[in-house]
Amino acid sequence: MSNIGDMIRQPACDVPVAAKADVVVVGGGPAGFSAALAAARNGADVVLLERYTHLGGLASGGMVLVLDDMWDNHQNEISVRGVCMTMIERMAAMKLVAYPRENEWGKDAASVRRWSRWGTFDFHTQETPHPICFAAAFDPDAWKRVSLDMVQEAGVKLRLHSWFSQTLVEDGKATGVICDSKSGRQAILGDIIIDATGDLDVAASAGAQHIGGNYIMTTVFRLGGVDTEAAERYEREEPESFAALDRQIKKVLGGSWGYWWLKTPLPGVVWCNCPHMAGLDGLKVEDLTRAEIQGRKHIHALVDFVRTRMPGFETCYVIDVAPQTGVRQTRLLEGEYVMTKEDLAQRTRFDDSIARGRDYYMPYRVLLPQQIDNLLVAGRHYSVTSQAQKISREIPPCMAMGEAAGVAAAVALNAGVTARKADVATVQRLLRAQGADPGDRVGRNPDVPELARALAVSPDTLETV
Ligand SMILES: Cc1cc2nc3c(=O)[nH]c(=O)nc-3n(C[C@H](O)[C@H](O)[C@H](O)COP(=O)(O)OP(=O)(O)OC[C@H]3O[C@@H](n4cnc5c(N)ncnc54)[C@H](O)[C@@H]3O)c2cc1C
Repeated sequence: MSNIGDMIRQPACDVPVAAKADVVVVGGGPAGFSAALAAARNGADVVLLERYTHLGGLASGGMVLVLDDMWDNHQNEISVRGVCMTMIERMAAMKLVAYPRENEWGKDAASVRRWSRWGTFDFHTQETPHPICFAAAFDPDAWKRVSLDMVQEAGVKLRLHSWFSQTLVEDGKATGVICDSKSGRQAILGDIIIDATGDLDVAASAGAQHIGGNYIMTTVFRLGGVDTEAAERYEREEPESFAALDRQIKKVLGGSWGYWWLKTPLPGVVWCNCPHMAGLDGLKVEDLTRAEIQGRKHIHALVDFVRTRMPGFETCYVIDVAPQTGVRQTRLLEGEYVMTKEDLAQRTRFDDSIARGRDYYMPYRVLLPQQIDNLLVAGRHYSVTSQAQKISREIPPCMAMGEAAGVAAAVALNAGVTARKADVATVQRLLRAQGADPGDRVGRNPDVPELARALAVSPDTLETV
């Protein structure tokens, strides 16, 4: 009889090859979706694997509903473009995204009042209230619909319901992955593999060097039946009473940012980036289970409390708790270059820059593991210190990294070289040609994207304009 902690030996088995492609992307979150799209648009045959029922990762299944960190407050410009802007445009066409227009950015009191509860402000400045900037509040199902449409249009071969479990490595090069699914174990082979799992599952399995990171975990949820106008009026007209109540609410929640609820493009529906829980490990089944149980207790305690106390929330109800647990940080790659807080703060420039975040730049080397070749890493598990990741892991920079990884994979394949040897100047040129900003040039981008001039959803009336 074996005990917990013992090992058992499984017999070797034959695994059927279910697909072969030039590029295999594992993880259909913001980074993986962008990587698959970019590789396919640049001529590669691409398979995209995702464990869940949908694309979007934390952006849709995690119900993290503001695209931020795409505003450079040093250069006063939108720094993340490319696939990220296309995604906003496509959701705008569905009237399922809201964002402040160019003439609303800044500290004008009316603009601050209008937009703060959408979360579209620059929270990295010390200034209070935070200035309004370009950021986009979106609907999670719109994300799922748009990303499915886009991968199909690009000819990406999508395989949902596929849990990655092992990386295949030969002679120091990644050659494919094994997935577990309802169809059993399956091998998916590829010339270049892109790890976009967020937890570095693929690179860690391949033996790539990495560190173990950790940060608060959150069970994000949405409430319906909220009179947001009444809640905002109370906050504005009775600031002292509001502040005292808000402090009590945060105690009930056990952990939250300044704004515990934010508006969404659906009338009466708010998303809540809380409750936060510390000391849990996003790689441990026991901790992930505990987070779900603890999180729900806090959520229902909050609903009971605000229904009786908080103007605007009298008839609120839980619509859903995010199906993807809010894990911010686990394993982080120790790649060819490791980004630091100093790089972010000093806005270090790199010759091999391939992506921008808010006001920082990322070199191609942060996507490259040291030992394993033909493996690229894009997303929140990129090569970065734990402290620096906490301030450089938002959805737009993850999309920018993914887009760069996809283009780099196509460039390497076309040139017949390994991913490590991809010609970065060609990657930069192609990224620019498709509307992304790799951060290789000095100075502002010359244009404000067209969509930043027009509004998709009016924040006051929720009517389309
Ligand atoms: C609670 C919370 C609030 C946040 N708030 C914001 C915010 O307001 N704005 C913002 O811009 N960012 C925010 N972030 C950060 C942002 O959501 C993430 O950093 C970003 O989504 C990371 O993108 P990614 O593609 O790297 O990873 P993920 O979004 O985690 O996507 C990874 C994908 O890989 C899939 N996957 C993982 N493992 C496997 C496997 N073994 N097999 C198959 N598929 C797998 C997952 O299902 C998922 O689809 C927040 C994060 C959290 C957790």
